[in-house]
Amino acid sequence: MSNLPHEPEFEQAYKELVSTLEHSTLFEQHPEYKTALKIVSIPERIIQFRVVWEDDKNQVQVNRGYRVQFNSALGPYKGGLRLHPTVNLSVLKFLGFEQIFKNALTGLNIGGGKGGADFDPKGKSDNEIRKFCVSFMRELSKHIGADTDVPAGDIGVGGREIGYMFGAYKAAQNKWEGILTGKGGSWGGSLIRPEATGYGLIYYVGHMIAYAKEGSFKGKTVAISGSGNVAQYAALKAIELGATVVSLSDSKGSIIATAENPITPEDIEQIAHLKLKRQALTEFKHEGKYKYIDSARPWTHVKVDVALPCATQNEVSKEEAEALVASGARFIAEGSNMGCTQEAIDVFEAHRKSHGEKAIWYAPGKAANAGGVAVSGLEMAQNSQRLSWTSHEVDHKLKGIMEAAFKNGLETAKKYVPHKEGEYPSLVAGSNIAGFVKVAAAMH
Ligand code: GLU
Repeated sequence: MSNLPHEPEFEQAYKELVSTLEHSTLFEQHPEYKTALKIVSIPERIIQFRVVWEDDKNQVQVNRGYRVQFNSALGPYKGGLRLHPTVNLSVLKFLGFEQIFKNALTGLNIGGGKGGADFDPKGKSDNEIRKFCVSFMRELSKHIGADTDVPAGDIGVGGREIGYMFGAYKAAQNKWEGILTGKGGSWGGSLIRPEATGYGLIYYVGHMIAYAKEGSFKGKTVAISGSGNVAQYAALKAIELGATVVSLSDSKGSIIATAENPITPEDIEQIAHLKLKRQALTEFKHEGKYKYIDSARPWTHVKVDVALPCATQNEVSKEEAEALVASGARFIAEGSNMGCTQEAIDVFEAHRKSHGEKAIWYAPGKAANAGGVAVSGLEMAQNSQRLSWTSHEVDHKLKGIMEAAFKNGLETAKKYVPHKEGEYPSLVAGSNIAGFVKVAAAMH
């Protein structure tokens, strides 16, 4: 029996990776990688600290802060900071673990890490957020560096929070260094970074659609969950490419539109303003154009070609996966990290194996949402060069990285995972193996 505390989210992410490696021929071909798996599953270092700050009533508040420096075989630890009341070590270890292999799939020299705090930004004033961020960075600044560990945003951390933290770092260390990505354009940020995760997701799924010989996004209906940065830009890019977006959601409920009367770019702009003010979708004024379903996720309320979970982990259950399959959805790709439960992945993978070219095809977040961290890597490169690239340059590189991530997962699956003629290769197994092999070889 293990003497370690139960870490449900981390164990889920670990088992998901291991089960795909074990069902492939990888360990037969490379028995030495079994040891690499043991080593890679333990973080190189975990930093835990307290964050004390003062609220608007001058009351002292305290939160738990963390940085999991998981693996630096490929480069400086790289990964976001999450501010959410559900944050604990298990959640950050799962996110950091996923990040190692995701970052490997970008082809850039970045290791894996993740951090954050159990601070809830909801209902906090700008002043309180600033005070929290400054206090958080006061400790974190001792442990990061442009060539050591480069955090970025995640849930609850956007451009404003990165700004507060970057200022706090400069004040603490008396130097301008590219120690965070997702910075503002005028002070070291990269163009296309805010859009990158959502855009990259759409570029990735575009390759799935083309490989399946189903055309392109033009004319496809798309369900999206979430309404933050990833969901917003995925929706905008899908619409730009000719698709219709029929849902968005937040923790309180979902907006459901129809293919005839879909969500518009103007709606998304309005929702982006609400979200910046940390307001719920219930405040979205759509004049009865759409249905709002309280306390529901979109999956059982839509009939679509493409489903894109872009909210948070475990946001597609087994029953919701079955409903998506039954409704005829063909492509599901995670904009969120570990968006699908293991049971949901099992439903999609079983369908893929039994329905040939008419199957649903599932892509895991560590490949499909790698665009965000990829452009973070490009931001680090620009900072090192003291140069800024044009949006066209960054977008072009992003497209290349997403294409390579797709092909890498696809070809690796063909190489290591037995599959029948006419069956789509398993992108979850292929991406896991490709990411793992790259890190294992570098560690060796
Ligand atoms: N939080 C994002 C992710 O899950 C981005 C991380 C980064 O840019 O470092 O990949």
